[in-house]
Amino acid sequence: MAPVSASLPDIAEDPFARREWVVALAHKLGFAIAGVAKPEASARSSELHAWLAQGKHGEMTYLADTVADRCDPRRLLPSVASIICVGDRYHDGARDRDRPTDDPCEAQGRIARYARSKDYHNLVRDRLHKLRHAMQAQFPDATFRLTGDIQPLMEREVHAQAFNGMIGKNSLLLVPGEGSWFLLGELHTSLEIAPSARPPAWKQEDPCGSCTRCIDACSTDAITPFSVDASKCISYLTIEQRGTIGAEFFGSMNGWLFGCDDCQTACPHCQPKKRRSVDERVGMVDARYAPRLSELPLLEMLGWTEEDRGRLVVSSALKRASLAMLKRNAVVLLAEYAAEHASAREMIQARLHALQRDTQEDELVREQAAIALAWLAPTAP
Ligand code: SF4
Ligand code: SF4
Repeated sequence: MAPVSASLPDIAEDPFARREWVVALAHKLGFAIAGVAKPEASARSSELHAWLAQGKHGEMTYLADTVADRCDPRRLLPSVASIICVGDRYHDGARDRDRPTDDPCEAQGRIARYARSKDYHNLVRDRLHKLRHAMQAQFPDATFRLTGDIQPLMEREVHAQAFNGMIGKNSLLLVPGEGSWFLLGELHTSLEIAPSARPPAWKQEDPCGSCTRCIDACSTDAITPFSVDASKCISYLTIEQRGTIGAEFFGSMNGWLFGCDDCQTACPHCQPKKRRSVDERVGMVDARYAPRLSELPLLEMLGWTEEDRGRLVVSSALKRASLAMLKRNAVVLLAEYAAEHASAREMIQARLHALQRDTQEDELVREQAAIALAWLAPTAP
């Protein structure tokens, strides 16, 4: 990487110069936003414990298992003195166009925006490695540790400090003037770097005021202000939950096959026209996140093999869902489609019956087909 203009004696001695240097390096690597946070115990620890005690994490037991680490970044790297936070803009807030169809063969399931491009884990991590190498070259004795999504960390809270952001009622990080369409990553280091400090961005205590748009937009009622019940959230149901999706969620999936963006799309801070990016780099969607796959054909998916799935999910965040989980999600959406399209009901029910009886099919898919058929039965003509 070409050097960024910085005086080496300054960065050797001055934590403020070091911050400017690190932020410039991050921008040079293409990160839209970059800042530095001070590692400190989470102020939301009791909130997280209460959330776990209420079982709102569903089957994600790893969240409970790692709660102590999650609430104190110093446990991830005991020598940590600073956390460098970076983010990529992956979407500009434009809404998907509705494409209603009366042909069940054309019925599609939607994929959340973050998963439409190459796997963001790799996109963020590769450049964080480069950042670490550039820093290590100047500070050979410093220690570093990369984190981001996989390691236990109250990521949004740390980034809120680095970017002067706040957590909205939908529990997402809102960057002032920019919204929440960012994918985040961190580099923990033993190097002393002055934390980013800016004047408060919002006059009120939270960025939402009386707004409730995300709560109103959430079709499964997963949001209570500043908290999301993951066990009811479509993102969790379609990506994290390993078992069947309960009949109580049928009719509420809103076309989502993998993830859900409804509470972000509804948020006024995320609207393309309302954003006030002062820096073009922050406002523009990173070309690395150009969508490759936005939706998948539901009926066709029921016949997929592992090879079919492999071809589509290679180097994509979609690989988080197994073949059986993707088919399970398709079954739920097809049942919803059948409930709304009387002309397609008989054909879809026959397909679900075949799936339920297919002894070669994964048990999860067969069970989900049975739930779907039972849900459709009372509405059958
Ligand atoms: S992602 Fe979807 S289901 Fe989850 S809280 Fe947001 S709107 Fe609700
Ligand atoms: S939609 Fe409204 S209430 Fe929800 S996070 Fe955005 S500003 Fe806050």
